Amino acid sequence: MDVLLQPVSILSGIGPQSVIRLEKLGIQSIKDLLFHLPHRYEDRTKIHPIASLAPNTSVLFCGTVDFTEVLMTGRRSLICRISDHTGDITLKFFHFTAKQKSELSPGTLLSCFGDIRYGYQGREIVHPEYKIISSTDNITEPCLTPIYPLTDGLRQGTVRKAMTQALSLYLQNIDQLRDLLPQQILEQYHYPSLSNALQALHQPEQQSTQQLQQGNLAALKRLAFEELLAHHLILLKNKQAVKKWQAPTLSSTKKQSKQFLNSLPFKLTNAQNRVIDEIIIDCQSNHPMLRLVQGDVGSGKTVVAAYAALLALSSGYQVAIMAPTELLAEQHNRNFKQWFKDSNTHIAYLTGQLKGKARKVTLSTIEDGSAGIIIGTHALFQESVNFNQLGLIIIDEQHRFGVHQRLALREKGQTANSRPHQLVMTATPIPRTLAMLQYSDLDISIIDELPPGRKPVTTCVIPAERREQIIEKINNWTANNNQTYWVCTLIEESEVLQCEAAENTAELLTQALPNVRVALVHGRMKAAEKDSIMQGFKNHDYDLLVATTVIEVGVDVPNASLMIIENPERLGLSQLHQLRGRVGRGDQESYCLLMYQTPLSNMGKHRLSILRESNDGFVIAEKDLELRGPGDVMGTRQTGLMQLKIANLERDIQLIDQVQDAATLICEQYSNAIQPIIDRWLGQTTLYSEV
Ligand code: ADP
Ligand code: MG
Repeated sequence: MDVLLQPVSILSGIGPQSVIRLEKLGIQSIKDLLFHLPHRYEDRTKIHPIASLAPNTSVLFCGTVDFTEVLMTGRRSLICRISDHTGDITLKFFHFTAKQKSELSPGTLLSCFGDIRYGYQGREIVHPEYKIISSTDNITEPCLTPIYPLTDGLRQGTVRKAMTQALSLYLQNIDQLRDLLPQQILEQYHYPSLSNALQALHQPEQQSTQQLQQGNLAALKRLAFEELLAHHLILLKNKQAVKKWQAPTLSSTKKQSKQFLNSLPFKLTNAQNRVIDEIIIDCQSNHPMLRLVQGDVGSGKTVVAAYAALLALSSGYQVAIMAPTELLAEQHNRNFKQWFKDSNTHIAYLTGQLKGKARKVTLSTIEDGSAGIIIGTHALFQESVNFNQLGLIIIDEQHRFGVHQRLALREKGQTANSRPHQLVMTATPIPRTLAMLQYSDLDISIIDELPPGRKPVTTCVIPAERREQIIEKINNWTANNNQTYWVCTLIEESEVLQCEAAENTAELLTQALPNVRVALVHGRMKAAEKDSIMQGFKNHDYDLLVATTVIEVGVDVPNASLMIIENPERLGLSQLHQLRGRVGRGDQESYCLLMYQTPLSNMGKHRLSILRESNDGFVIAEKDLELRGPGDVMGTRQTGLMQLKIANLERDIQLIDQVQDAATLICEQYSNAIQPIIDRWLGQTTLYSEV
């Protein structure tokens, strides 16, 4: 057996307790340990003169004790003043022993390490690490001290000692941990070999201090690169694997297409036609389509999906359309009924609301194939749902669903060697860089054009002090027969509080605006209740809809042309853009008022001004990425998919272009390296393997 695959327990200093603690960090073998990288470094390479110690730094220094005393005022503490020939500093201990007090007697020479800060008596250091020394010789370390991520009970010293042994075993058995990156790639990007990289990170050289602290060392970049490459490769590999499955070929006749297009109340845009052409080609193939359609809010994705549905129906297959909310499912249901009314297609509508006999009947139409189109929420992939001949799955606002929900639906339509085609749609534009890491298993189509006649929404950034004026504006708006949204945003992540805020606001606005018919919709209402209110708003039974962010997705009320968003500074730009997409759907001028709480930071102002200046979801998403970083932009739901060990998207985003180029090269010329790279970084992860 390879030495490096042996358990860490063979290393001296690693007992059964440490084995358990290391396992919590995912470390079992020596090889695992080698990939456990420091998350920061401490500099103990130099002794700093006391006068030079700046607050908020961690440094090594030496000094002689001037005096030590116990302070009884305030919190009982032990104070020890030490000095060298340049100056003095106070060491402070809140927990201390009598022995400590006596050993810190005047004249004792100490070496100390810790975080310097300003206290009442000038510079001080609380609970420093210290050692009593006889001379200042030999107390520095030859290189930066790595600080490793730990778990409860595991000590830095234990990990460091084990690491030293692991590294020396590695250097004696270098072939057992092969460099998986082709030489060509290492040379192209000036990356060190794997062994040099690991050594440079575990036992850094003094001259690399600055680059290490900035996360900019070639060794670190190389490992981050390799990790990101592994994530990209597995998606590419999955894509190839999916393409090996069979799928029904779907197409429609000229006559059927014509009839469908004629039934639409509008002409398709060029962008819609282009995406439809891409879908037609995919569906003609006898391998499954796996296509993501990205398009800004209001770009008309639904009708593109309907065209895809037409292909399946024309070929005698069923189509399932899954939407994240009942509201949206209901809206699709209405649209599809309209668009397919001439073709005598039966449309089944299935949500969690449907109960009892009606549900049984609907389920049987799905099972016996009499329903051609099946529209619903995640209720679609429940066990009781059996499709007859599922040829196409359409998932709207896919970012709202977890991977597992997507998979569950696909498995429904799967036979021994055939799978349905899949079309997923999203209005959340994904910056190109992130799309590469999240969606490279999908083919991507972009609808980059809005239907004609849309006027861009005019966005204004307004302080909350002008609330009265804004409320007055609603009055005028209503008098002109136009409708308004008032959006209350998230307060402290709590849905309860958010709904409460919306209730209070609705109450206040009802009182302030006696001539305005106010309705309220929020996430804690029953779906049926929400639907009926939304429907009422659409029918213009109400003039003003107070809502939480539940209206973010997909709702279409063309006559609503004013939106007020309270506390927009709390939301991401892309989310605000989505909300704003609810207005500007008709032919009148539309406005979005971002009513922020003062004071607002410069950054906050800058962010909101981006929204004022751009109506392009892709531009906004790129800016959002720039300002907030990938973690926030992707949201926890999506970052959770990618558990990165070494790479840090905030820091390493510029590696992504390299990763993409390298992946192409590897797929073309070094395909033997693909699986080993995936195995090294993703190991037993099943997360992606089934996607
Ligand atoms: P989204 O891409 O946000 O899902 P929808 O599919 O809901 O957008 O379309 C928004 C609105 O635009 C709908 O009322 C839809 O009927 C209309 N629409 C879609 N395509 C066109 C078009 N080519 N011309 C005019 N209106 C269109
Ligand atoms: Mg939509």
